[in-house]
Amino acid sequence: MLSNRAANITPSITLGISAKVKELKNKGVAIIDLSIGEPDFLTPDKVKEEGKAAIDKNLTKYDAASGNIVLRQAICEKLKKENALDYQADQIVVSSGAKHAITNALLATINPGDEVLIPVPYWVSYPEMVSLCGGVPVLVQTKKEAGFKVTLEDITPHLSDRTKMIILTNPSNPTGNVFSKKELQSLCGALVEKNILILADEIYERVIYDEPFTSIPSLSEEIYDKTILINGLSKSASMTGWRLGYSATNKKLAKAMGSIQSHLTSHPSTITQAAAIVALRACDDEINHMIHTYKERRDYIENFFKQWGKLDIIPPKGAFYVFIDISPLRAKLKDESLSLKVCEDMIEKYKVAFIPGIGFGQDDFIRLSYAAAMEDIKEGLVRFKTYVDQVLED
Ligand code: PMP
Ligand code: GLU
Repeated sequence: MLSNRAANITPSITLGISAKVKELKNKGVAIIDLSIGEPDFLTPDKVKEEGKAAIDKNLTKYDAASGNIVLRQAICEKLKKENALDYQADQIVVSSGAKHAITNALLATINPGDEVLIPVPYWVSYPEMVSLCGGVPVLVQTKKEAGFKVTLEDITPHLSDRTKMIILTNPSNPTGNVFSKKELQSLCGALVEKNILILADEIYERVIYDEPFTSIPSLSEEIYDKTILINGLSKSASMTGWRLGYSATNKKLAKAMGSIQSHLTSHPSTITQAAAIVALRACDDEINHMIHTYKERRDYIENFFKQWGKLDIIPPKGAFYVFIDISPLRAKLKDESLSLKVCEDMIEKYKVAFIPGIGFGQDDFIRLSYAAAMEDIKEGLVRFKTYVDQVLED
């Protein structure tokens, strides 16, 4: 009954754990949820009001398949103002979340058997998305010493005449690390010279703490032409459930992606699109408040690990994740998957939910999401420390 494609697919581990946490909470179990990467802030009031007004204004009919024109113009303004990027509205495709924008991009570029380089650790959905679209995910291990930032040296042994694309996530989910402009310049320059397309997933681009952010297509004309930029409002404006993502590309690709979308789903909800215009044009204060709050949490967590001194973390520079090295526990816990065992113990015995690193291709790590209240983060860390200290002592 099932296609090979469907038979081989595994569900998203992040969404799966989040569903498990919700189920436990519904049963009355008090769980501290540091698992899902979903802002704990409410969608800004202005955005919600605009969504309600859109219904009252009867904005409830079909619109342009690639997205409402005013919204696409607002996206171009944002890209110009915040990222020094020049795009026209016909280079933008507005989709139902960044996931959908990535899928359009893969469907528009990948032929059966084409190889897509995916640096490890990766965001859970990339390998499955590539396979679903007929491509071959080629996993490129990166080095902990380099903060898991992929280098040309990591990539070179994996290049073949089928290499079509690389997926770069900046800031990274799951590590929270961020590439510098210099690193991007040399890496992306070399990739483009080799005629490799860059899928630049910059969905966490607003959530950055220490250094200015560089958007990949801003690096040079050649890089601009070969980059598919992905962004959205799920993270920056706390709009995960509204489903609003977008791509910015050269015109030829945008046309192809728009045609694909026109047959598969058409544009996202008109109500979401109306609200998104306000999120892009009038929510700087709300967004800056969220980023400021994430930064305070980041600083607290970094300090906690420094004082404790038993486990390393990748110093987080952006997004709202901390990637924790649990390899010192391997000598004590002999389970096949270390990260699954630790996450299972934490949820069962200590009622704290993390995401196992195995979901990101890195079993010696777990991911903590600090898109959660400070008191939950503090208590979750105390319980985690109790667990780890006990395992190490046994
Ligand atoms: N890319 C990355 C790196 C993510 O972490 C996520 C998770 N939300 C997405 C894309 C998908 O975002 P959206 O909710 O807009 O589909
Ligand atoms: N991207 C978020 C995460 O990594 C949300 C879940 C998902 O879409 O996979 O937790």
